[in-house]
Amino acid sequence: MAMPMASTGTTRRAAAGLDAMRVLVVEDEAKQAEYLRRGLVESGGHAVDVAARGDDGLHLAMVEDYDLIVLDVMLPGLDGFGVLAALRQTSETPVLMLTARDRVEDRVRGLRMGADDYLVKPFAFSEFLARVQALLRRGGARRFDHRQPLQLADLELDPMRRRAHRAGQQIPLTAQEYSLLALLLQRQGEVLSRNELSEQLWGVNFDSDTNVVDVAIRRLRLKLDHPFDEKLLHTVRGMGYVLERR
Ligand code: CA
Repeated sequence: MAMPMASTGTTRRAAAGLDAMRVLVVEDEAKQAEYLRRGLVESGGHAVDVAARGDDGLHLAMVEDYDLIVLDVMLPGLDGFGVLAALRQTSETPVLMLTARDRVEDRVRGLRMGADDYLVKPFAFSEFLARVQALLRRGGARRFDHRQPLQLADLELDPMRRRAHRAGQQIPLTAQEYSLLALLLQRQGEVLSRNELSEQLWGVNFDSDTNVVDVAIRRLRLKLDHPFDEKLLHTVRGMGYVLERR
């Protein structure tokens, strides 16, 4: 019955276009930390740093540039919630929290404080890896760490220079508008919901009664579409937004 699954991870990674990433593991249980470190190195050639204390982990997270932080809750020095709270004041690096406690309030607390995902110990490495890959994909999308220019009709975006042009004219964009446009352009033709846009761009799910996403879209639309005949950014009523030629 069992099918050979050895190549699945590699195939998925290749499909997602993930390069080796820098990962910080903050975990005081040495065996568990080494197990995760080795697994990440072997599965994707990721570069992994390990910190055994919360305060050490926070320090590393502040001075180094990681693509993902794996953060245990129960830690000496400073617990995982303390690390997360300090980190989120300055950084949007994706955080996967680990805990031995399957307590709903811990999970809610972590997510509310800005953790991107949550895994309860003990877990299978395959489950851990699936979560890591999902976060790295999202993180990559959030930072638009792509080298290839993106294009739709006469709209061009150059990720190296973080610039957008339409019909050869530069469109002046704020960092937030640039990120929003890059995400829509990467996934052109696909309807992106407000939830997904807010998660990808701000790392949080804004309450449905806030209009942060709509305001950002409106600003982008003024610069991107308003001066031009062909409209590229469309509202799909009740669903979200899509960038495409119509
Ligand atoms: Ca621990």
